[in-house]
Amino acid sequence: MKIKKRLTSFYREFKFLAKGLLSTRHPVLAQIIPMRRCNLACGYCNEYDDVSSPVPTEEMFKRIDKLAALGTSVVTLSGGEPLLHPDLEKIIARIRQRRMMATLISNGYLMTRERILKLNESGLDHLQISIDNVAPDEISKKSLKVLDKKLEWLAELAEFKVNINTVLGGGTANPEDALVIARRAVELGFTTSVGIIHEGTGTLKPLAGIARAVYSKVRRLGKRGYTKINGFQKNLADGTPNKWRCRAGARYLYICEDGLVHYCSQQRGYPGTPLLEYTSEDIRREYLTKKACAPYCTVACVHQVSAFDNWRDPQTLGVKGLVGKEAIKAIRVYQIESAK
Ligand code: SF4
Ligand code: SF4
Repeated sequence: MKIKKRLTSFYREFKFLAKGLLSTRHPVLAQIIPMRRCNLACGYCNEYDDVSSPVPTEEMFKRIDKLAALGTSVVTLSGGEPLLHPDLEKIIARIRQRRMMATLISNGYLMTRERILKLNESGLDHLQISIDNVAPDEISKKSLKVLDKKLEWLAELAEFKVNINTVLGGGTANPEDALVIARRAVELGFTTSVGIIHEGTGTLKPLAGIARAVYSKVRRLGKRGYTKINGFQKNLADGTPNKWRCRAGARYLYICEDGLVHYCSQQRGYPGTPLLEYTSEDIRREYLTKKACAPYCTVACVHQVSAFDNWRDPQTLGVKGLVGKEAIKAIRVYQIESAK
């Protein structure tokens, strides 16, 4: 059953890739927030609160339906902590009913054997859990020691793909932890990814010392087919800005809990249009709009989505978004947050 579901998922991924290549007029990936509240309070995070209510399920259904109408291929649920939403599985099922892929980013704390079975039932395609360290500290409790049992349950029961993400750079306390976490992920049969983050000063610096050595080892794991590290990440590890065309607002959409479309979590306010009023003209405009923050951006998922179109359609409309250190700082926070 597990193998059959994964083969079906592989076929669907292939179809979505082909669709993404054939037409530039629809979003490839939309990240949507069903719940801003979080059960944790990581020291670096600006993406959560401890009071907000779940977005009403009917409202989420309207947003999902609109994303389907725009031709979106993949919908990612994140937060906050999306597992806190009481109807999360219904929302995932709605995404699948609308013929889109459903993926989830979670801190994993609320994962139980029962919840994994419910997620199987809902049709979830892919889960990402980010782990910051081996043992909890005052900054982050997203720790291998706390989550390991849940990872074992996932390895045993999940019919969806699981990726474990970790981070390097930005003054992370114990860079060696990234290798321990990546090895454990591989041992359990999961894929792994590693995010390169900027220094706290907002300066783009190459990885050095232990972090560099760890990066190389994790990269070698990747060569065995498990770890997703691309040229974009390598440039960040080398401290080199990337030359690419960010297609946020077009091929990638970030939908906040208020239902507004933003470039990404750290460029909120651009364009700031309600999703239910978003049109193909908005998509075309943003597709052709150059983003000032692109060279120093560490948001790997937007880069991956934009790679579909890097070879075509130069961006001819005005530069938008935060620039310089302000952008780098904001994006650093995003990178850590997206690793949850
Ligand atoms: S990083 Fe993730 S887990 Fe930590 S507080 Fe933010 S949303 Fe919650
Ligand atoms: S921060 Fe990155 S993903 Fe967001 S708009 Fe800028 S270049 Fe695009």
